[in-house]
Amino acid sequence: MKNLILLPVTAITLHLSSCAPTAGPALSDNGQINTVRASNTLLQQGVQQFEAMKKKKRISSNSTYNAQMQRVAARLKQTINMPGARWEFVVFEDPTPNAFALPGGKVGVHTGLFPITKTDGGLAAVLGHEISHVTRNHAGSRKTQATGLTLGGLVLDQIAKRGGASDTSRATLGTLYGTGATIGFALPHSRKAELEADQIGTIYMAKAGYNPNEAVAMWQRFADYNRSKGSGSKPEFLRTHPLDTTRINALRAFLPTAMREYNRL
Ligand SMILES: [Zn+2]
Repeated sequence: MKNLILLPVTAITLHLSSCAPTAGPALSDNGQINTVRASNTLLQQGVQQFEAMKKKKRISSNSTYNAQMQRVAARLKQTINMPGARWEFVVFEDPTPNAFALPGGKVGVHTGLFPITKTDGGLAAVLGHEISHVTRNHAGSRKTQATGLTLGGLVLDQIAKRGGASDTSRATLGTLYGTGATIGFALPHSRKAELEADQIGTIYMAKAGYNPNEAVAMWQRFADYNRSKGSGSKPEFLRTHPLDTTRINALRAFLPTAMREYNRL
């Protein structure tokens, strides 16, 4: 019995240790973003899942939101160099403030997020963030991490404890275990991936001609919204994208780099 447990433990440990976001610097000195291609399997799964979502969820007919989404996405797309990506930006009718990206270049934003993003620059901050998850293949590292999860929540929790994981990340791993088939995509991003997406997101928006300062203002509005709702009703986006002063301060510290790209235009 003990041996039966030990084997998967080893497997999971390997997976967990290999889940750090993508090798190499995200941004080279000359301002180029280093993209990481997802596996063909992951690309296919992303595309398929997005098609399923478009059938299941209501696509918004709000002309203002749709126009803003396509206007901002068109400018951002010109700044992306990712062969093989099939970019698609869809507004879903859903009052919860949420945005997500799937491998292959599929990005969704809920109507409930638009009152928070407000401006084109605000939306560019969110889209830039989501685009970065795709171009840096953050789902690839999460997918690797997820491979071992079907072996059992209890075993996983033990691994997390032994590995010195914080209570928060242990709770996160517990949640992941319950997400079933969509696990590869529903996983919360690691803090490192979030920081990278925040930073690279501002580079995309800067290259597209949106002032990166708008990103800080937008994430601040999102954090304020969250505070106004109180605890217990946290929208999905904030559960998968922990927004705190550390994260916003880190973005603020990165602004000079993003502004350099903005001023290059
Ligand atoms: Zn994110």
